Amino acid sequence: MKDGQNYIDGAWGAGAAGWTDVIDPGTGEVLARQAMANAADVDAAVAAARRVHLSGALSDMRPIERGRLVQAMGRYLLDNAEAIALTLCREQGKTLWEARGEVAGAAQYFEYYGNQAATLEGRQVPLGQGYFDFTALEPYGVSAQIVPWNFPVEIAARSISAALTTGNACVVKTPELAPLASACFGHAAAAAGLPAGAVNVLCGWGEEAGAALAAHPQVNQIVFTGSVPTGVAIATAAARNVVPCVLELGGKSAAIVHADADLDAFEGDIRRGIYFNAGQVCSAMSRVLVHESRHAELVERAVKVARGLSVGPGIERDAAGSGMGALVSEGQRDRAAAMVTRAEEAGAQVAAGGRKMNIPGAFLEPTVMTGVTPEMEIAQEEVFGPVLSVMPFADEEEALAIANGTPYGLVGGVFTRDLDRATRAARAMRAGQVFVNEWFAGGVETPFGGYGRSGYGREKGREALLNYVQTKNVAISIR
Ligand code: NAD
Repeated sequence: MKDGQNYIDGAWGAGAAGWTDVIDPGTGEVLARQAMANAADVDAAVAAARRVHLSGALSDMRPIERGRLVQAMGRYLLDNAEAIALTLCREQGKTLWEARGEVAGAAQYFEYYGNQAATLEGRQVPLGQGYFDFTALEPYGVSAQIVPWNFPVEIAARSISAALTTGNACVVKTPELAPLASACFGHAAAAAGLPAGAVNVLCGWGEEAGAALAAHPQVNQIVFTGSVPTGVAIATAAARNVVPCVLELGGKSAAIVHADADLDAFEGDIRRGIYFNAGQVCSAMSRVLVHESRHAELVERAVKVARGLSVGPGIERDAAGSGMGALVSEGQRDRAAAMVTRAEEAGAQVAAGGRKMNIPGAFLEPTVMTGVTPEMEIAQEEVFGPVLSVMPFADEEEALAIANGTPYGLVGGVFTRDLDRATRAARAMRAGQVFVNEWFAGGVETPFGGYGRSGYGREKGREALLNYVQTKNVAISIR
């Protein structure tokens, strides 16, 4: 596999912070090297983006034409989908079918937002005779995007597409563990005919390149997806420069499964909700709260789903829906396994899985835990691995109290045939998104983001575009 370079001001090159090995977590072997940027490289990328912004090359363009460029980037991804997916699968550990889905999802963001470029409109504000007043939505300028390793292509795509659609230039900091596939955005920007400097893609260490980008005085807006402590550091840097940021942080999301739920169908939600991408999903269904009358049955079904998954190198799992791949690194795998061990020490039981697998690579068995109580670490903190905690509840009130009883609030779910009960839960859940009878229902069109410690601002959907623009009011005195 080719070494990864940085794409700054329309040119590919090495970084001043040397190179790092990118490991295939499915085998433990080195795949390729990635060039690492330092603060000076970040400076060059921000300067290029700022130059593009100040030139008006993006912001003065007729929006419908800008939208065409954004859509063209999506078509580049589709035209090169298999190659991008193979790289993503190998560097991230996910199955090949998941990687293909991620690339298709990434392309969809460019299609969805590119189509909306001409639809973002201000309004006319009536001020009575003597004035004509209107608002305009203007880009911030330089949008900095710091991307995590769990869905590096899809998460970068959702920010780049929205930023360009609204006329911003971008600097994207890709994740150290899985940076290679993100080269597609540099190639896509060039293929689409965007001016050099409109999209800059670089990798670097979080504390070095990431921190330099977040604190850069000429960055005008920041989008971050990742862990809470890093989100706090980035928001602090943003506050010092008085620039807005969007934070998509973790979650500890709960599904409430009532006694009347369709448990046959819910097996599919377990499969999707906690074992997709080996559980490395911020909106993973990491807790299932089930009515006590069906607890034993649900645990039995969850164990069946977990044990039924074939786990191994993602590259060997290309049929849609098949198996589970590796975690992104042995470090992440060990972190998840240690959380399972601590939960057992605290009194929880492993009903399925729970152990590292005795094969090369970063594999953890699909895990189901019972005997978990709401205050345990495993029920409060993000595992970011294939670990499901199942807890019983006696009534609706208790279920909602447990669901809302963490500092997070990313998503939630309710499974019932009773529309009133589903509606009550949807209102009561402190979460940015509630799924009724299907975990992960939604798409690029639906706004996504957290309550509480899960962050603020929204990505996806129409709402996200508003994070990339600022409102200008123009009042004209008519004499
Ligand atoms: P992280 O939040 O530290 O890293 C995410 C991105 O931020 C990476 O690109 C990283 O280089 C960058 N970064 C790190 N420190 C930075 C800093 N000081 N300033 C600017 N940028 C910085 O996440 P991680 O260490 O890779 O993973 C740790 C845990 O975070 C995981 O176990 C998981 O619980 C959580 N996580 C959540 C998500 C999510 O989507 N919510 C994604 C990845 C990780």
